[in-house]
Amino acid sequence: MWQAEVRVSLDAIRHNVARLRSGTAAELMAVVKADGYGHGMVPAARAALDAGATWLGVCTLGEALELRRAGLTAPVLAWLLAPGLPLHDGIAAGIDLSASSTGLLAELVAAARVAGRPARVHLKVDTGLSRAGATPADWPALVEAAAKAQGDGLVEVTGVWSHFAYADAPGHATVDRQLAEFGAALDVAAGVGITPQVRHLANSAATLTRPDTHFDLVRPGVAIYGLSPVAGETFGLRPAMTARARVVLAKRVAAGQGVSYGHTYVTQRETTLAVVPLGYADGVPRSASNAGPVWLGGKVRRVAGRVCMDQIVVDCGDDEVRAGDEAVLFGTGDGGGPTADHWADAAGTINYEIVTRFGSARVPRIYG
Ligand SMILES: *Cc1c(COP(=O)(O)O)cnc(C)c1O
Repeated sequence: MWQAEVRVSLDAIRHNVARLRSGTAAELMAVVKADGYGHGMVPAARAALDAGATWLGVCTLGEALELRRAGLTAPVLAWLLAPGLPLHDGIAAGIDLSASSTGLLAELVAAARVAGRPARVHLKVDTGLSRAGATPADWPALVEAAAKAQGDGLVEVTGVWSHFAYADAPGHATVDRQLAEFGAALDVAAGVGITPQVRHLANSAATLTRPDTHFDLVRPGVAIYGLSPVAGETFGLRPAMTARARVVLAKRVAAGQGVSYGHTYVTQRETTLAVVPLGYADGVPRSASNAGPVWLGGKVRRVAGRVCMDQIVVDCGDDEVRAGDEAVLFGTGDGGGPTADHWADAAGTINYEIVTRFGSARVPRIYG
């Protein structure tokens, strides 16, 4: 008997990867960073590879090494690397590493000497997001240093890449501008003899809406988990995560009763309150107090009052609700149930954050 659980459908992940692949001639890198956006990094990676993904993408070196420890041998790219990391471990494990600066490239060269094999490097250019990546001003120096290291046999430039700022608005002018900047950066790289195996730019939104940005490899994350990166469109994706719990207590209370901390909700009339054992420690956003939807007793209701650390309260009116009944916070949305998108709206955030935060050590993740 479960009290609260996060269910993850690996079938849905496979379906979503197949759906994404059907729209592109490029290879697909499944982005499984942040514990697979809360779905479990290794199971999500396996499901994506089963469905035809050929690369895995993560943020940290630690995540990449964990994929290797799990026995996954597909190419893996790790892209956010602070100075001073044991990069030779990554090189020895055959992990592709991103470099946005000549400083990091120099560390990779030194680490390649230690590892006794060339570093597989993806050079990142900042085409307008102003996050990681070399600016167009710094790009020529980075590609020249990489070309020299490649000539010395210490580096293999396997990729050149960048990331969009605004692809969730597919017609936005920045998408075209970044695409043009990327083309210019590839020309600069080619000018010093760098012609990488894979050029890549497209996140989920661009994978789904802008085939002209696919190049050799697309890099979807959120869409793999069945969530849409573009408001109002589903693209035939299936949400993979369902968060649910069993009512621990249902009781009648009088009219005019304040509910949960601070009494921000007050019952209008005599009613049944249901206590549901999931709270902000488990990922329920506190900012969705008095707003988050819960499917309980055959309909969608709202969180009554504040979200607590371990629990929420739901006002069920005069409906028959009992301890042990199943409450679904979000899932596939089939049959009118709430989704991660509804929770994102209720909390003033994005669906990415809802699933990535969800689950805690005390809430088991069940695969089916
Ligand atoms: C997270 C991330 C992605 C995936 O983005 P989605 O919008 O989830 O598809 C791709 N590339 C980089 C660099 C990222 O950080």
